[in-house]
Amino acid sequence: MKIREGVKDIVPYSPGKKKDGAHKLASNENPLGPSPAALAAVRAAAAEVNFYPDAGSTALKAALAAKHGLSPAHFVTGNGSDEIIQFAAWACMDNGDEAVTSECSFSEYTFAAKLAGGTMRYAPMREGRFDLDAIAALVGERTRVVFLCNPNNPTGTYFGAAALDSFLAKVGDRVLVVLDEAYKEYVDAQDYPDSQALLATRKNVLILRTFSKIYGLAGMRVGYGIGHPELIGWLEKTREPFNVNSLAQAAATAALGDAAHVERSRALNAEGKVLIERGLDRLGLPRWPSQSNFICFDSGRDCMAMFEAIMELGVTVRPLRSFGLSTWLRVSTGTREQNEAFLSCLERALKTVPAAK
Ligand SMILES: *Cc1c(COP(=O)(O)O)cnc(C)c1O
Repeated sequence: MKIREGVKDIVPYSPGKKKDGAHKLASNENPLGPSPAALAAVRAAAAEVNFYPDAGSTALKAALAAKHGLSPAHFVTGNGSDEIIQFAAWACMDNGDEAVTSECSFSEYTFAAKLAGGTMRYAPMREGRFDLDAIAALVGERTRVVFLCNPNNPTGTYFGAAALDSFLAKVGDRVLVVLDEAYKEYVDAQDYPDSQALLATRKNVLILRTFSKIYGLAGMRVGYGIGHPELIGWLEKTREPFNVNSLAQAAATAALGDAAHVERSRALNAEGKVLIERGLDRLGLPRWPSQSNFICFDSGRDCMAMFEAIMELGVTVRPLRSFGLSTWLRVSTGTREQNEAFLSCLERALKTVPAAK
């Protein structure tokens, strides 16, 4: 039996830790839970799980089309947007081809590139931000896909419309540009790109959105891609027909109709972010400005030791050692109670874990 080299190379994803009795602020989930309308839809759909799901996600795509002012042909749905990252790589990459992204970004891009038989090249960041000039400079003969995460996970930083326009002008239509906007609903920066407007002129841009974050449906596994119908047609060819199950389709469709839940979630995050940022400032810990529902900060101590200490005190967060940030952690915003618990556990942990040299 022969196992592909690219598969041997894959480093398994390490999910955020869940601990009994501890607050989980490790995976950027919605602390308010799912919309009650989504839950009701799941209960109703459960009675019909003897039937296969709708392979075309017809109702969900119709609801997405209405929300975005596009046609259903502009959408592809996935078992989480993670799966659509794979469609992008499968559709564009042959053995030996390359994808490009930034260092300190979402690990699924590398996973998808390797699974498709290719490799990943990483541009350096500048002050915790994607450096689109450095990324453009890595785009070469064998590059097929560029993954841009905006706002970026795990740093929380973003790039603006001007930087994206100049990047797209440089790379033209030679490569697929994936704009992963999993946290778009939390953004308040005025110069954040209007990526949907790009679709009128560009066939090589794919926008990714998810129901896992502000919609509070991470466990349902449903996300979507928006692109030119021609691009979507290629991606659809790589898709297993029943990739989005019927409960997930029902939940997502209902969630789109509950704008009030989204608004509450956005407001809770805005409050929580200010509380946590002030707390980190008071403790003198450097952080990057966040446009998302999480904050990335430098504890000045070994991040694994800090992670363990904070977990023992009752909150799980994400240590960022695998991103090469050996003293940094990422905390998701929670409810007010959870945010306060985090700050108090952090303050206590700082007293017990020795400063890194
Ligand atoms: C959470 C997240 C996603 C969404 O993943 P799903 O598969 O839809 O749950 C996509 N991209 C980034 C950068 C994320 O952080």
